[in-house]
Amino acid sequence: MKLRYFDHNATTPLCGAAKAAWLEASEAHWLNPSSPYRSAAAVRVRYEAARETLAERFDLGSDRVVFTSGATEANNAVIRYWAKSLPSDARVGINPTEHPSVIEAAKTFLGQRLDWLPLLQNGCVDLDALCERVQAGEWAAVSVMAANNETGVIQPWQAIAQLCAEAQIPYHCDASQWIGKMPLQGLAKCTYVTACAHKFGGSKGVGFMLLPEGGGGCRLLLGGEQEATHRAGTEDVAGVLAMVAALNCAREGKADARDAFIEQVSETISGVGVVGADADRLWNTVSIIMPRHPSVRWIRSLEKVGFLCSSGSACSTGQSAVSSVLLAMGVDSAAAGRVLRISAGAETTAEDWLALADALSATYQLLSDEAGSSSSQVISIDSL
Ligand code: PLP
Repeated sequence: MKLRYFDHNATTPLCGAAKAAWLEASEAHWLNPSSPYRSAAAVRVRYEAARETLAERFDLGSDRVVFTSGATEANNAVIRYWAKSLPSDARVGINPTEHPSVIEAAKTFLGQRLDWLPLLQNGCVDLDALCERVQAGEWAAVSVMAANNETGVIQPWQAIAQLCAEAQIPYHCDASQWIGKMPLQGLAKCTYVTACAHKFGGSKGVGFMLLPEGGGGCRLLLGGEQEATHRAGTEDVAGVLAMVAALNCAREGKADARDAFIEQVSETISGVGVVGADADRLWNTVSIIMPRHPSVRWIRSLEKVGFLCSSGSACSTGQSAVSSVLLAMGVDSAAAGRVLRISAGAETTAEDWLALADALSATYQLLSDEAGSSSSQVISIDSL
């Protein structure tokens, strides 16, 4: 059975160029770039060239690029740095629909100094309210992602970058779901940008942060002096070379096939809803509230007929907690428990989308028949 993969916001397959770069580096350039002999210096040259290439893509100096083990580490590094360096009475505004790697870091490191930013019902931060409160000097720093991993909702990050620059406060933008899908222009205007390779065809466990000029101090891991002292640990040369190769291949897609899918599903299954329907959303993502049946049943039934999709973020899948992103957007917990997150990739075709729409209709029929025939018994989810 052909498996059609609709969970690219969780992770993407390694693209061909990344795989080739990774294999070549692992076979031919595996020396520790910090070793003192000349052969290692050649590895260092490649590693630094990758940093230059990445910096050029963002139109900034390579000294602002720090490679990390991914976005979780980078997000923790930024938030912890703020907690350490900002005045003890300074408040920090955090978007409530951030990835857990920002939310949990903020709760832990900032504690009482954390304020949730006001949110519109469509999942965008309320820019007018944000503007007013930043201009009133309420926040010493702000963190708002570029696009949400569960809903695809795009935040007005360009406007927030401008606003924070004018107010001279740092702005952190987690661009993990943006980079590789959308244009990179303007991201260098954010004070801190964080991202990971495995959302755009690179390997897992690699990412980067873009720091402000002279951005010393943002240092989470202690040990060696790698990454110009910003991040300790032996460099993952193969992972970084693969990440840069993947970024060079990544392309922006179009929302047409996704929108045709939404139209077809809305026609065939009455009562479906799209989360953040009136917000700008990533072209590859739709978070859809099904009229009946818990997400886990949909996911398991769809997998049986060859489709992989998700409920909330990968990090919360399998846990019973309802998505905090959906709750923050005002989706009630019953509806949030029926959400399917569908996210395509560069290789997904219009035919794949339509096949998924057909599979949803058939699955709806199947699950409803099952629910009807066993309405008097308790259904065991494990039996699915
Ligand atoms: N931020 C966002 C928006 C994400 O979607 C993810 C991954 O799901 C992360 C951060 C964490 O990235 P990593 O897997 O590299 O730790």
